[in-house]
Amino acid sequence: MCVTGCGSWEGVMSGWILPQAELGPFLQTVREQMQVFAPTAVEAEGLCALRPLNGAIGPPDTEARRTMLPPKKLLLPNNETLFTFDAEGYHPAPVDDAPTVLFGLHPCDLRAISLLDRFFGARIADQRYVQRRAATRLIGADCLPDDACFCHSVVASEPRDAVYDLFLWSLEDRFWVTVNGESGAALIDLDRKRFRHPRPADRLALQRRQQLRARMLENGRARRQARGDAQWSWREWSAACFTCGACAMVCPTCVCTTQEEHPSLDGASGERVRRWSACLYQNYDRAAGEHHFRNERMERARNRFEHKMLGCGVGEEGVKCVGCGRCVVNCPAQLPLGEALERAAGNLQRAQAIKAAAANPGGEES
Ligand code: SF4
Ligand code: SF4
Repeated sequence: MCVTGCGSWEGVMSGWILPQAELGPFLQTVREQMQVFAPTAVEAEGLCALRPLNGAIGPPDTEARRTMLPPKKLLLPNNETLFTFDAEGYHPAPVDDAPTVLFGLHPCDLRAISLLDRFFGARIADQRYVQRRAATRLIGADCLPDDACFCHSVVASEPRDAVYDLFLWSLEDRFWVTVNGESGAALIDLDRKRFRHPRPADRLALQRRQQLRARMLENGRARRQARGDAQWSWREWSAACFTCGACAMVCPTCVCTTQEEHPSLDGASGERVRRWSACLYQNYDRAAGEHHFRNERMERARNRFEHKMLGCGVGEEGVKCVGCGRCVVNCPAQLPLGEALERAAGNLQRAQAIKAAAANPGGEES
């Protein structure tokens, strides 16, 4: 924790200063070694997307809005051939694991990647994910929340809760760059001359930025609470939900996929493809004999949102929502998803506190 009592942990961490004007040239140097993706405004579509940085690099927009699709799209592509087959047998499809930097990821998205790493890497490894992830470096950037953000309520608002190689704190005309591990230091070493050591004024500016961000997150929570909680029953909820799955498609932590086989017309060859899917879809859990484990829309809606808060079974417990707000801004039925998820997170935290107190009635430290 910060020795000044500002409530921050970052203030005491060592870092580098990168003048804002040097960010473009630094990324240009990085791009000589790896492909770089960054949030890019797509005005024609009125959205922000994670796209390759091509051509001359001006200063990237570090205050960019949330991208519509999460960085997951580059680690677990939406439409991916797993293998092809023919008379000779099965042939694994090559994995695109070119060295890549994902730039400008907000803390919620970095937290989401740490959850994906656990899901696809730790227990039963998905080799395709693991291979791509090993070739990927993450450069995070702080952000100021809008009204749909509630990362703060699900413990995903700080880079310390996540994975990253470099993290940029925006200090007006410069960035405070926090370095995580050897891979982060190696990125700095690609163009070390553009960075300088921090001075006391930089540390003060960093604390002010972190305090501003923390205040905005807290004010947002207070505003939503004042508006009143989303006290809908699951039945009311599901009556209004289209089960379109948009909330799952844009979610950085949803991991449901489906596999399809595409045979050639003569049946002599084909391919197996993996696509994103959603447990909200009625066909997602269709079993033999047209049996469905969750046939009713209400059951599927509850299943998805409870999984976001409670996890997906043994070894996968814990909150899977990172409060990015993508489902909030992309739900065509304009359901109050943020309020509902934030309320569920609050209930969960209270239940955990009661359980911890019951397990340790004297309050002694273990
Ligand atoms: S985006 Fe909204 S309407 Fe569509 S499935 Fe999700 S909650 Fe339902
Ligand atoms: S459930 Fe909604 S707010 Fe939570 S991580 Fe997914 S898209 Fe973001």
